[in-house]
Amino acid sequence: MKSYDVIVVGAGGIGTATMCELARRGLRVLGIDRFSPPHVRGSTHGETRIIRQAYFEHPDYVPLLWRTYEHWNELQQATGARLFTPCGLVEAGPTDGEVVAGVLRAAQEHTLEVEQLSADEIAKRWPALRLPDDMTAVFEPTAGYLLVERCVDVLLQQARQHGAELLADCGVIGWQASDKAVEVATSKGSYSAASMVVTAGAWAADLLDDLGVPLTVLRKTLFWYPAAGVERATELPAFLYEFDFGVPYGFPVIDGQLMKVAVHNGGAPVDDPLRSEDQVDSHELGVTQRFLSQCVVGAGDTPTVSSTCLYTMTPDSHFIVDRHPEHANVVFAAGLSGHGYKFAPVLGEALADLVVAGKSELSIDFLGLHRFKL
Ligand SMILES: Cc1cc2nc3c(=O)[nH]c(=O)nc-3n(C[C@H](O)[C@H](O)[C@H](O)COP(=O)(O)OP(=O)(O)OC[C@H]3O[C@@H](n4cnc5c(N)ncnc54)[C@H](O)[C@@H]3O)c2cc1C
Repeated sequence: MKSYDVIVVGAGGIGTATMCELARRGLRVLGIDRFSPPHVRGSTHGETRIIRQAYFEHPDYVPLLWRTYEHWNELQQATGARLFTPCGLVEAGPTDGEVVAGVLRAAQEHTLEVEQLSADEIAKRWPALRLPDDMTAVFEPTAGYLLVERCVDVLLQQARQHGAELLADCGVIGWQASDKAVEVATSKGSYSAASMVVTAGAWAADLLDDLGVPLTVLRKTLFWYPAAGVERATELPAFLYEFDFGVPYGFPVIDGQLMKVAVHNGGAPVDDPLRSEDQVDSHELGVTQRFLSQCVVGAGDTPTVSSTCLYTMTPDSHFIVDRHPEHANVVFAAGLSGHGYKFAPVLGEALADLVVAGKSELSIDFLGLHRFKL
């Protein structure tokens, strides 16, 4: 049986970043994935991911976001690849809603640059964007989007350059850990390592079933709408609006033709992520159509392309990043709850710290397993 320092189960969004960080530190790393990353069967595809710092979900994420920005910048500089576009982000909603109040709270607590904009100021800066009368808006200039498949590709290439190996199209069936080693059973035989990292996305609950964390997988639909009639569509910021009928968000046009729009809240529960159907969610379609008709002048009313992707939700919608309570050499990041990709390199760093030192100087305590009474 071939042996490694670390096996990373799941070489998707977080796994490839973790492989890269571990290999960069000189460890012998094997990543194993059921598919061939980047692929469209998990949670890390669909062209773009928003990255931002004034984090409405909780201000405690902000120090991790500062670090993740450093990582993305370093990766761009080291590889010459364009991964991050700082187009800014408009977030809008009722003053007392979750989004605007949360952005302002995070900005105030961490002294982040955020502008409050009126409806007139929005329409003046971006002629195609509208702000409904009952909403306020904030603009975060340092936010933007990541080209997600390219990021996975580049992280995987970097991991390989540092000596990591990838076993693709290979399912992990189970694992057993002792104090000194973890044995991983796969569809292509068994592998062993001193430590294991589980970054299995929508399948994390299967591989960590002994922990009993209730993870719920949701199917989400992404829509690409015709945008030839949208004024200065490539110069738009990313945007996210909190309505009572849903939380639509979207991106500037990046191919000159289509605008990607989706819905952050809701989603259809999926029992078996391997059998998740690539079908359009009619509720999410309706939310995006209603949003575009109210807030993006000139957007088409029927999407020409759609795709589905999976959110893996924890009960409180915050990530779980921790060591296995009974096996110190098993660490994991799970339940990224539909907002985890921007953190990929900093989570890779945190997981590598947990493998190497058993703890991390990064502020990840609030993401620990201890908050669930299992
Ligand atoms: C529609 C959508 C929009 C999003 N928008 C944003 C956004 O704007 N900003 C943001 O930061 N985040 C966003 N997210 C969330 C973010 O994309 C995810 O949190 C993140 O990509 C999840 O990465 P992951 O590594 O956990 O999962 P994945 O990338 O799915 O990786 C898990 C991998 O594990 C493999 N695997 C699982 N089980 C096994 C097994 N038994 N054997 C072998 N391999 C296995 C899978 O094949 C897969 O490749 C969005 C997600 C979706 C779906």
